[in-house]
Amino acid sequence: MKSRFRIDKTHTEIAAKSTIKKALAFLKTTDLEPPYLLIDTAIVKKKVRAIGKNIRKAKVFYAVKANPDIEVLKLIDSLGLGFEIASEGELGILLSIGVKPSRIITSNPIKSFRFLRMLAECNLPYYAFDSKDEVRKLRDYVPGCNVYVRLSVPNEGAEWPLSKKFAVELDEAEELLLYAKKKGLNPVGVTFHVGSQCTNIYNWNSALDKAKILWDMMEERGIRLSVLNIGGGYPIRYTKSVVDIPSIDKNVNHLIYEKFPKNVKVFIEPGRAVVGDAGIFVSRVAGKARRGDDEWLYIDVGVFNGLMESVGGIKYRYIVEGSTMVKKWTLAGPSCDSFDVIDKDVLLPEPPIGGRILILSSGAYTISYASEFNGFSIPKTVLI
Ligand SMILES: *Cc1c(COP(=O)(O)O)cnc(C)c1O
Repeated sequence: MKSRFRIDKTHTEIAAKSTIKKALAFLKTTDLEPPYLLIDTAIVKKKVRAIGKNIRKAKVFYAVKANPDIEVLKLIDSLGLGFEIASEGELGILLSIGVKPSRIITSNPIKSFRFLRMLAECNLPYYAFDSKDEVRKLRDYVPGCNVYVRLSVPNEGAEWPLSKKFAVELDEAEELLLYAKKKGLNPVGVTFHVGSQCTNIYNWNSALDKAKILWDMMEERGIRLSVLNIGGGYPIRYTKSVVDIPSIDKNVNHLIYEKFPKNVKVFIEPGRAVVGDAGIFVSRVAGKARRGDDEWLYIDVGVFNGLMESVGGIKYRYIVEGSTMVKKWTLAGPSCDSFDVIDKDVLLPEPPIGGRILILSSGAYTISYASEFNGFSIPKTVLI
């Protein structure tokens, strides 16, 4: 039977053909009711092989918040990555699948007390911080631990900037590392985040320049740093092409080689890039309406149960089951909240009621953000 899904170059330049094929094959055989999220394991494996390959002495820690599905975590565990976590829940799920604490780090600079109590039971090898209060908390719960300071770096060109919530400037970073030492912690390095979905390769240049300045400042104060944690930020394709992982990594590797000591330990914490473009949401059209001048399309995945990032400006590409009639749609989720609008002015062929819509590049920051608001269940994740 010929597929009724209309696929063209605008789709295959975003998601891998093989992923789309797998998803369509799955649809033919399953009686699983949408919505659900498909994750192509081959893409996850491919991304894991690529990230950090071109950076000497790099260790990769998957940022669990991007997609903490237990099967996804088991897959990533089997591929040998470490994990970056922020909470007791993320730690709990990793321990439940047998990940050793020695492979887990936390770069959350402000840890909750529930998290700290759990950390006191199973010490992790590295902790981030960016305040004196946090130094005192760490001293109380995990005395003597290894810490790196979160340095503020430019987030321009990142579609999901993170820089304002955490991180300090150079002078404060220096003072904090000295303070950590005074309180009996072991100040080992520096971390930063260039911003998520960072499509500007120069963000890594300015971040590494700044980290190097701190490195030298500490050397002068008698502290030799050894850990350079460059965070996450690798972009994926949503609606357009982005700079590829090898180009970012070769540039980063070159800069590190040029500026930092030969034995520097490099950590990378990718989230989005590991799982994002491996994911395809399968949703169904629940309704259509003309309201004023606008054509509305209502689907069963929305802002509250998977597409939260659309509110922050992330746009997706869709494969639609249906006609050849292209219209401009306001695309809305299933809940009765007027905030539940995914996108406006989306050009899509008109699907029938009950027809399916595939949402490409939706493996990261979707299910992890989802709630059961208004009684709509969180879509299941299926590995294909
Ligand atoms: C979210 C986060 C990451 C992952 O970022 P991506 O942009 O998804 O790669 C890495 N490190 C920290 C500290 C984070 O908060």
